[in-house]
This record gives sequence, structure tokens and C-alpha cells, in this order.
Amino acid sequence: MQLFYNPPSLVYKIFSNVLWKTNCDKMLLTFDDGPSTQTTELILKFLSNEKIKALFFCVGKNAEYAKDLFRNLISEGHTIGNHSFNHKNLIWSRKAQVRREIESFNDLIKNEFNYKVNYFRPPYGRFDFRTQKIVSDLNMKMVLWSLFLYDYKNDSNLIKLAVNKYLKRNSIIVLHDNQLTKNNIIDTLKIICDASAKKGFEIGEPAECLR
Ligand SMILES: [Zn+2]
Repeated sequence: MQLFYNPPSLVYKIFSNVLWKTNCDKMLLTFDDGPSTQTTELILKFLSNEKIKALFFCVGKNAEYAKDLFRNLISEGHTIGNHSFNHKNLIWSRKAQVRREIESFNDLIKNEFNYKVNYFRPPYGRFDFRTQKIVSDLNMKMVLWSLFLYDYKNDSNLIKLAVNKYLKRNSIIVLHDNQLTKNNIIDTLKIICDASAKKGFEIGEPAECLR
């Protein structure tokens, strides 16, 4: 089986106004799919101990279900990104539905939590020019990644190999804040932090990384 830790370089060229890497010399940690009653608190505790600020691409229906956890993300100073309302594959959705998936997330977060969302990441990383246009019409930035670690496979050896081989100073790293990673997410984070310390890399804050 071939694993794609990095998107192929042609993809960077075609979708050049998508953010694939940070705009500075620091790495950015991103967490998709939360908030989750299984993992969010574990992650928040780790990040707080390590004084790391991350970008959480949340799912609207999960934020609605776990409002207190969602509030904790904001109050701990992390940044919230839009990962759609229902986490559907937008490639197969009609244009109006794509727009609704993105806008209804923003509306919920604005109305319930008084928070303005600036970043979008499509579910499964699947998008097309249509989605890209909607995101830019809404004055948001599309953020994908340069390092996908398959953290949900819960294989620490695989993570170590990938981190040693592919981690860069300006990596945008995707991790998952969902029930699939609950047993391994802290190990995964430790591997990333140890490797970045050894390589002399720094983890940055979302605003400085995505200027
Ligand atoms: Zn997702």
C-alpha cells in the first residue's frame, strides 16, 4: 500500500492559493474532526503543558453536541477552523449544499459562541475549484497540509518513521481529534515534539503561521 504523507507537488501548483505549508519558519499543529468527548480534553491538557497553540478544524454538528468542549478550545486560546457542518465529501455535493455546509458552520459559531471563523479545511481534504471559490467569496482561507501522519492507524512506529523522514520547519501537520485516535494521540504528539526539538524546529501559533 502506498501512503501519501505529502501531497504531490503538482497539487501545490494547481491549487496555489491554498495554504499547504506555513508562511514562516515554524510548524503548525492542526486537529481535525473535533470536538470529541473521547480526545479533546487529552489534547488540550497536553497542549497547555507544552504551551502550544493549535488550529482545530471542527465539525459543526460536533461543536453543537459538545458545546462546553468547544468553548474550552476557544478559552484556551486555540484557533477554530471550519471543517464543514456535517463532514460530508463536498466533491459529491451540489454547489448550494457545499455553500450551506460551510456557511451553517460559520453561523453556528458566530451565533452560539460569538467567534468569527477565518479558515476552512474540506472534509477528507477533498475539494474542487467550486469549493475554493465559495471559500474565497466568504473571505476565508483554505488550509490543507504538508504532512499527514495517518495518526488514526495508531501505529507509533509508522508515525516515528514519517516524522523523521518528512517533518519540515514549515510543516502544517494534520492530526485527528476523534474517537479513532484516543489511545495514541498523546504518544503521537510526544513523537512530534521530541523530533522537532531534536531537529531544532519550532511550533508556531496559527496567526503567525498562516499570514
Ligand atoms: Zn475530517
